[in-house]
Amino acid sequence: MPYRAPISDYQFLLDQVVGFDQVAATETFADASADVVTAILTEAAKMSEEVLAPLQRAGDLEPARLENGVLRSSPGYADGWKAIAEGGWIGISADPEYGGMGLPMAVTTAVNEMMSAACLSLQLAPLMAQGQIEALEHHASDELKSLYLPKMISGEWSATMNLTEAQAGSDVGALTSKAEPNGDGTYSVTGQKIFISWGDNDFAENICHLVLARLPDGVPGTKGISLFLVPKYIPDSDGNPGVANDLKVVSVEHKMGLHGSPTCVMQYEGAKGWLVGKEHGGMAAMFTMMNNARLGVGGQGVGVAEGAYQHALAYALERKQGRTPSGTIIDHADVRRMIMDMRADIFAARAILLANATAIDMAKATGDADWAARAALLTPIGKNFGARTGIRVAETGVQVHGGMGFVEETGAAQYSRDVRVTAIYEGTDGIQAMDLVARKMMDGGEAASNLLDEIEEQAEHARATMPDLAGPVWEATETLREATEWLVAQDDMNDRFAGATAYLLAFARVLGGHYHLSAALADPDGPRAKLARYYINALLPEHSGLLARVQSGADDLFSLSPDELAA
Ligand SMILES: Cc1cc2nc3c(=O)[nH]c(=O)nc-3n(C[C@H](O)[C@H](O)[C@H](O)COP(=O)(O)OP(=O)(O)OC[C@H]3O[C@@H](n4cnc5c(N)ncnc54)[C@H](O)[C@@H]3O)c2cc1C
Repeated sequence: MPYRAPISDYQFLLDQVVGFDQVAATETFADASADVVTAILTEAAKMSEEVLAPLQRAGDLEPARLENGVLRSSPGYADGWKAIAEGGWIGISADPEYGGMGLPMAVTTAVNEMMSAACLSLQLAPLMAQGQIEALEHHASDELKSLYLPKMISGEWSATMNLTEAQAGSDVGALTSKAEPNGDGTYSVTGQKIFISWGDNDFAENICHLVLARLPDGVPGTKGISLFLVPKYIPDSDGNPGVANDLKVVSVEHKMGLHGSPTCVMQYEGAKGWLVGKEHGGMAAMFTMMNNARLGVGGQGVGVAEGAYQHALAYALERKQGRTPSGTIIDHADVRRMIMDMRADIFAARAILLANATAIDMAKATGDADWAARAALLTPIGKNFGARTGIRVAETGVQVHGGMGFVEETGAAQYSRDVRVTAIYEGTDGIQAMDLVARKMMDGGEAASNLLDEIEEQAEHARATMPDLAGPVWEATETLREATEWLVAQDDMNDRFAGATAYLLAFARVLGGHYHLSAALADPDGPRAKLARYYINALLPEHSGLLARVQSGADDLFSLSPDELAA
């Protein structure tokens, strides 16, 4: 089943739902006219469908491997990378001064989603480059920027992010990698990093590792961490890859999915690095890359969901089983339930991510703190709900296929295996949810409340024409507001954290209702209103069970002791 990029959905969402016209009206993004966006989406769709999608299965069957210390990528991946690089898809939102297109993140988000749907394991490589490019643009010296950015944007050089160590996963502050000043402005970086995506490859002429490490006077915890750019080959005086740096790939992990993406254990032994950002300011600099990647990973979830949905729908339209009007399983009510759930959730998750990207673009273009707060609020929701949508939809896709879903040839199982990691890397679901109820509520819930005001305002406005849809959205928003106020009032953080995941998912449900309602208002007699009605009747009500959980606090969770749990 060939992948077909849903260009008309992106265009509808940008034009009618998430307010992209505001972005295009700014001076910063004046080039992002409707024609340009259409041309970009069309070209990216073509490359994703024709070049990347055929690589998906090859990566699964022939994983990247380490051969005598040399990383061998999956068959065809070098050509895939070349197509991504030549299309300019690494630097869509990068600074034109260094060769980027300078287009909005909303456009990058749509393009990244298409590439993820086509071949997730390869798409992770340009995603890492995009994040590092943004981090360098904001935090690196002019010298580093001029040397590295053009090469990364063109795809001549690739990029990685190095946070995780064996004892420092979610708790990044526990890392022990060290950096010693060399006295000439460079540093010697030593330590072992694990789980490094695309830690090596055989298609880029150099690989730029962004590595978190601690300087000798760095205090324990996150406040004592600095960030270093450590290239695989040290650039010579002409900026070409020179001598090999003191680093190597120790091994490549065997994983449940995402086989085409080499997940590496990296050893740095006094490797030469350059400081990015301030000494001990590494987390702030790395957060630029992490926020970029969080949006991107949410988009990976939606991309895989779209691929899995298209597969499942095609199967359901062909598979004959039981008596139905069409003769195929598509007309069984329970199969329809699965297909409609998939489609309605993909729309909701895609809208949340495009709204998140739009807020990022508006913050950049206007410098307005409210837009920045909106973007920060939506990031954990988009990351978590995007990933969860990918996982749920891909799993449902297996179910639609029946036994054939459990058989590898159909590709349904691969989607499910590949996408599972999106809820783990770039901050687990739990870490995103805690971020939402703690850091993102440090404003006393103001950013959340402002967003809920807008949702209610729109629902009020829609009552006149679509009361059956507007009413439930308004009521769900009001219940979410009460839960938000309850959360903000809790001084014991464990009471907030106990309900954090449920709160995040309920928030996503309400946002989904809001965006579906917007779609229905824009297309009142068409299929989008029908899908909105389905979502609002069948899926939005989940918010109330989730919110009941939010306010139950932590006592019951901790009521059984570890001994009782093990008994
Ligand atoms: C395929 C793959 C690719 C990856 N790529 C990269 C990469 O390129 N660069 C990189 O640096 N890392 C990468 N990672 C690492 C990834 O980011 C970590 O696996 C992730 O952050 C979780 O850390 P951990 O595995 O140590 O799990 P742990 O931190 O041990 O977490 C285990 C469980 O405990 C929960 N938990 C932990 N701490 C808390 C807390 N304070 N409160 C509540 N719950 C908590 C977690 O949510 C999780 O459910 C990758 C991982 C994988 C699997």
